[in-house]
Amino acid sequence: MASSVCVIGSSNTDMVIKADKLPAPGETVIGGTFLMNPGGKGANQAVAAARLSTPLAGPITFVANVGNDVFGRQARQQFEREGIRTDFVTTDADEPSGVALIGVDSRGENSIMVASGANARLGQAQVAAALSAENEATVILIQLETPLAVVEYAIRQSHERGMRVVLNPAPAQPIDPAVLPFLHVISPNETEAELLTGIRVIDEATAREAAQWLHRAGVPNVVITLGARGAYLSSADGAGMVAAPPVTAVDTTAAGDCFNGALAVALAENQPLPDAVAFACKAASIAVTQMGAQASMPHRRQVDSLPL
Ligand code: ATP
Repeated sequence: MASSVCVIGSSNTDMVIKADKLPAPGETVIGGTFLMNPGGKGANQAVAAARLSTPLAGPITFVANVGNDVFGRQARQQFEREGIRTDFVTTDADEPSGVALIGVDSRGENSIMVASGANARLGQAQVAAALSAENEATVILIQLETPLAVVEYAIRQSHERGMRVVLNPAPAQPIDPAVLPFLHVISPNETEAELLTGIRVIDEATAREAAQWLHRAGVPNVVITLGARGAYLSSADGAGMVAAPPVTAVDTTAAGDCFNGALAVALAENQPLPDAVAFACKAASIAVTQMGAQASMPHRRQVDSLPL
């Protein structure tokens, strides 16, 4: 069965130490607890999409680069357990798998160091091969944790093939504005929207201004995620807030990743954009009630059983 959603992006292993305080330079802090979780925006979004997909959208293909090490092997096994197609998850002979070292103190403040490793070597040839093989894909979902030149190449190539590109421009960093007209949807959060447009997004009015800026730059559909308030959607058919279902959030890690994976699946099912955004808000509202990144991604039946 052909994949209609292809996720291109990063795979990391998150190593988290929770301690009373974060170390100052040169200091060692003893007494922490350790957790190791699969992560990376690409992998998180692929897992969300796989759990939410239906026979209509088909299996999810993930295009990524991992290292020839225990983390790369564990990541691949995790993708396979989730039913993700790994034909285009390559193993780099030279670079280790991507790793994030995360310190969290008793107030929940964190400090993060990322070694991109194999993610930084995701190449154009690999993307080109995946797009040729997965030529029935209708939705391509990409973020900014892999080399920007490759992201921009993937956007152009996908658009040329008539595929709809959803760009989640995270983590916040400048991108070449020349690729914006090749996107179907851009889905920044408030910080990312501000970095792209220069407009400080704090509410619906400023989200509207930022969306207008992105429309003028050539993006037809803009979805700005606004945390517990939901998302602001702006397209040729209209604009306005899509509310997030009210929940008690326990961990918002990867809420944006869940949102984007869900959005891609709903678009592949040809749901109208307002329905796709509402579906993504519902899915992400479930994710924030669970701890963890990939562990918190909901399954389709959980989202479908929420009231509209
Ligand atoms: P993160 O960096 O934590 O992955 P983000 O900053 O990329 O998240 P947000 O805008 O915070 O993205 O959240 C994405 C979506 O998740 C929101 O549009 C909303 O639908 C849902 N969401 C986030 N926080 C909450 C919350 N407290 N209650 C309900 N839904 C939430």
